[in-house]
Amino acid sequence: MRDESLEDQFGRRFAYLRLSLTDVCNFRCEYCLPDGYQGTPHGFLSREEIGRLIRHFSRLGIRKLRLTGGEPLIRRDILDIVRDAAGAPGIETLAMTTNAYRLSDMAGPLREAGLNTLNISLDSLDPENFARITGDQRHARVMEGIEAALAAGFERVKINSVLLRGLNDGEVADFVEYVRHRPITVRFIELMQTANNGEYFDKRHVRARDIAQQLEAQGWQRQQRGGTDGPAIEFSHSDYLGRIGFITPYAAGFCDGCNRLRVTARGGLRLCLFGTGTHDLRPLLQNDQQEAAFRESVFAALFHKQAGHRLNEGDYGDTPHLAMTGG
Ligand code: SAM
Ligand code: SF4
Repeated sequence: MRDESLEDQFGRRFAYLRLSLTDVCNFRCEYCLPDGYQGTPHGFLSREEIGRLIRHFSRLGIRKLRLTGGEPLIRRDILDIVRDAAGAPGIETLAMTTNAYRLSDMAGPLREAGLNTLNISLDSLDPENFARITGDQRHARVMEGIEAALAAGFERVKINSVLLRGLNDGEVADFVEYVRHRPITVRFIELMQTANNGEYFDKRHVRARDIAQQLEAQGWQRQQRGGTDGPAIEFSHSDYLGRIGFITPYAAGFCDGCNRLRVTARGGLRLCLFGTGTHDLRPLLQNDQQEAAFRESVFAALFHKQAGHRLNEGDYGDTPHLAMTGG
């Protein structure tokens, strides 16, 4: 088989795949699934289809794989999926994004199964505020999960915190203090508009730029991004073990360095989080003999990847919420 790498017509290379394992989630984050998961809770890619997909993509040059959702820890076969993925040739970094609801029990087994890095969503350090934002009371368990992740020896542990006006934008200093003695990167994510959260977005969206400038004024230093790094801009400080990062999808040039592809939990290749439609790969995941057809299908789809999203023009594609495309 030809050795080709994934490159689009703008010369961007893709070595990073985000794979959603399920659309289902047990939290009700106000900006994502305020009424909880409402769709069909089955019919997601099987362990076999996932294994094949990962092996095919690894032979196309994917080096970093993120397992996400919905909530990936909801899958009963999650440890098998992680083990299969860790065994795929070429996958150098195996990552997961999780709400951590059962990470206190799962951190060790996940690490043993071969997971390298963890991103944990935590929108508030305050239990009441956490419950208000996520609709879930298990703040203490999530905090235990973070400590368990540190104890399990993951290469990197990151916290994702979506900035929300009037809800958690007053907690930035607390998060900064939280990383003083912990080797954790807290990344503040600007709230993104989706088809379902328009009014909420207008009310709660906060620009991260001012916060980043304040940190720089306090001696935090901007770090260089690596080739398969996500979109965050990270800062470090000699007095702090951890780092602070920002994900600012509304900033100019955000898409220029795009290095990521996404596959939905039902096997749809998605070229942009805020694009339209998916390219169905599932029919080509039924047996190993279909690998050549799978590759051709991915290359054909990639040709249509656009230069960038159009969020600033109010065009957020057809994404109802990020649980569907794996944020
Ligand atoms: N359930 C897992 C979790 O929450 O970590 C994984 C899926 S979740 C969709 C992935 C990330 O997307 C989370 O960090 C979440 O906070 C973020 N997210 C969801 N909706 C968002 C939005 N509208 N704007 C910005 N970030 C969002
Ligand atoms: Fe669930 Fe993650 Fe969406 Fe929150 S952000 S509702 S934890 S999928």
